Amino acid sequence: MDAHQLVVDFLNTVDVETGTDLLGDARTWERWCSGHQLGAGDRAQAALLRDGLRTVVAGGTWSAPGVLTVPVSAQPDGVMVYGRHAAEAVLTAAVSLTATGSWSRLKLCPADDCRQAFYDRSHNRSRVWCEMADCGNRAKVRRYRARHPTTGPSDPSPEAGRPETV
Ligand SMILES: [Zn+2]
Repeated sequence: MDAHQLVVDFLNTVDVETGTDLLGDARTWERWCSGHQLGAGDRAQAALLRDGLRTVVAGGTWSAPGVLTVPVSAQPDGVMVYGRHAAEAVLTAAVSLTATGSWSRLKLCPADDCRQAFYDRSHNRSRVWCEMADCGNRAKVRRYRARHPTTGPSDPSPEAGRPETV
């Protein structure tokens, strides 16, 4: 698995939209790890790492209340050296992405009800939304409604009468 895909998958073990957290339960976390051919390791450490990385990817500062102790083996030329456990592998992948200059392509969708992590493959790294067709358009609609609060949908057929007032 590519380094960026592993990190994106790991960051998305929490789903803001549905309120689910795969790291919140030992069984769902172990299922995620075995699906990625990794050992679960210390779940609390993994949660600390995930929340810290999400903060950093969102442009914030890591201020996790605790000490993260994860042994990492990485080569500065970007060659992946996977750890046995999820947190090791993710941190290794993060180091690898940093070393290859790709870290800044990791982003969190700015939609408050989404916050999905994604990898920006665009040429100039300008992608903002996880999916323009989804969150990007919803934000556009919200901005439009904020600017035009009294404008309802126009009725193309006068004989159908006025649509219900919104
Ligand atoms: Zn989104």
